[in-house]
Amino acid sequence: MEFDLQKDLKSVLFSAEEIQARVKQLAQEVEETCAGDEVTVISIINGAMIFTADLIRRIRLPLRLDCIRASSYGDETRPTHAPKLLDSVRLDVEGRHVLLVDDILDTGNTLKTVRDEMLERNPASVRTCVLLDKKARRAVEFEADLVGFVIPDEFVVGYGLDFAERYRHLPCIGILKEENQSV
Ligand code: 5GP
Ligand code: MG
Ligand code: MG
Repeated sequence: MEFDLQKDLKSVLFSAEEIQARVKQLAQEVEETCAGDEVTVISIINGAMIFTADLIRRIRLPLRLDCIRASSYGDETRPTHAPKLLDSVRLDVEGRHVLLVDDILDTGNTLKTVRDEMLERNPASVRTCVLLDKKARRAVEFEADLVGFVIPDEFVVGYGLDFAERYRHLPCIGILKEENQSV
């Protein structure tokens, strides 16, 4: 299915099929690293909601799900402020194996902030899984345990990733044309 909105993209980095194939492998990697234990998945929304939905439906382990809301972008294509956690996790994570799921790892500030906050709650372990990694943009030392794809320093949208809350529903991931990078 071609979305008309795809004309707003300069190029498609990953098709829906390529994403689904990689998500399937990532779910297997989660199963292997969790060795049969129950996993508490914390999805960093809004960006990670689509990825999380597809990922968890392929994880054949006991699993609990909660979300945490983080924001650092506003309506820009670069972070405008330090990540704010606008909400927190309600599930008890003490003694649990936690898997933090995010759409993209960029400066590293968001995942580092969320992981630090999780670690204060004495979980058994905290692992991180991101679909995309913009390695060149890291501002703090942070590596995810599981990475779907490493990408260049370009602003991408689709499959949960937005520009001003738009394009999240595209099934593919692509680079937004410059002329569409204003509200
Ligand atoms: P970090 O805190 O690592 O700089 O940024 C992580 C968050 O910034 C991601 O969860 C995502 O919401 C947003 N972000 C970073 N790069 C991009 C991008 O290329 N496109 C979009 N749509 N969001 C991005
Ligand atoms: Mg995000
Ligand atoms: Mg965003």
